[in-house]
Amino acid sequence: MKHTLPNEGMRRLLSGYRDFFNGNPARKGFCAIHAEQVATKQNPHSMIISCFDSRVCPEAIFNTHDGHVCIHRNMLNQVCERDESMIASLRFALETLKVQNIVILGHSDCNAVQKLRHLEELPAQIRSWLERSHTCYRGSTVDEAVKNNVLDQLAHLRQIPFVSQAVQEGKVNLEGLFFRIHDGGLERFDPAAQTWYTVSTEEENA
Ligand SMILES: [Zn+2]
Repeated sequence: MKHTLPNEGMRRLLSGYRDFFNGNPARKGFCAIHAEQVATKQNPHSMIISCFDSRVCPEAIFNTHDGHVCIHRNMLNQVCERDESMIASLRFALETLKVQNIVILGHSDCNAVQKLRHLEELPAQIRSWLERSHTCYRGSTVDEAVKNNVLDQLAHLRQIPFVSQAVQEGKVNLEGLFFRIHDGGLERFDPAAQTWYTVSTEEENA
């Protein structure tokens, strides 16, 4: 089945993922040549908004090298307009670093998503942060709820005026990904087909 083709930045992320899965790490210690290239400039192709879960390591999953991606992490991989840290990073990534993609990265067995079912039992600080997501537990399984949350966060991105303008002008692409901790699988949301599919660990552009 043909899926919506990723842009150049996404192809690099998916290619990096294949290298991660197949055990070909990009980082083999300090590289003086690369360090010199990035010492005074950066040109990241994507910004990844990831859950803060300790089992999900975006730089490892996408086999990235220094200067290739910006990563913002919080509980529930949330896009929250009232979070100054998030909004400042997003604006800088879009307008100064000119990233091609903003990626929401959810993952299997997400504790934060599971907590959405029991908000009333949580300490106030955790409850108020999770409530900011304006999402709720939707789905018959945790993984389904996580994927729905990723889609909710993509919708939140589109509601931010400077993001929606950049999307309309074709300057940035929004992507949803889901990482399976238990088997290393990666799923991508295909906006045209409105479905999730598992990214091949073998074929290019799949
Ligand atoms: Zn999580």
